Amino acid sequence: MNPTAVTQNLLQLNRVRFVNAFLVREPDGFTLIDTTFQRGGDALIETAQRAGGSIRRIALTHGHTDHAGSVDQLRQRLGDSVQLLVPELDARILAGENGAQAKVPGGWPRLQAKPDVLLAAGDRIGSLEVVPSPGHSPGHVAFLDTRDRTLIAGDAFTTVGRVTVSSQPHWRFPWAVLATWDKRKAVESARALRALDPAILVVGHGPPVREPAAPMDDAIARAGG
Ligand SMILES: [Zn+2]
Repeated sequence: MNPTAVTQNLLQLNRVRFVNAFLVREPDGFTLIDTTFQRGGDALIETAQRAGGSIRRIALTHGHTDHAGSVDQLRQRLGDSVQLLVPELDARILAGENGAQAKVPGGWPRLQAKPDVLLAAGDRIGSLEVVPSPGHSPGHVAFLDTRDRTLIAGDAFTTVGRVTVSSQPHWRFPWAVLATWDKRKAVESARALRALDPAILVVGHGPPVREPAAPMDDAIARAGG
């Protein structure tokens, strides 16, 4: 995984071109945001080591398989001392509660690992603030780095080709809309994330966008918001 330094606190890791995970630098090591799809664990650990730290905790924006797919492998390699933090509603879907996986779109892996923390609005993970952004998935969250207002928005937006709300089809990356659970909520969440006035937008699929206000406004307008 070839890491790109987005800020001094943030590395973007890229797998098969379109799938991103992130290492957020904290005083005790890294918070890994998302894990890509399965069998990415070794490469994620190695990339963190080469960047000069260890993975201390794993936080998910949502439970889809291209974000949660390497959670179990990472847990096996790193042990239980590494915290796993998962948005509450997506954790329930991942746990297979009430046959939930059949009711929501997108691929959901079967995880052995149990979350240590169920994420809720306003929680802090080191420098990151948890921002609920349901729509793409029921429990989807974004993370705002309070040091520099970098927004890690998961699949609330994609930036392949251009910034797009994941309620909207985009020919360069059609998968996000197909996996989106509630399009109206996705647009509401996109507006809420835009209102945070992020300095940089990074997402699960596509490159980082600096000064993202105008492209986010355009995307929201195209999505009918
Ligand atoms: Zn997704």
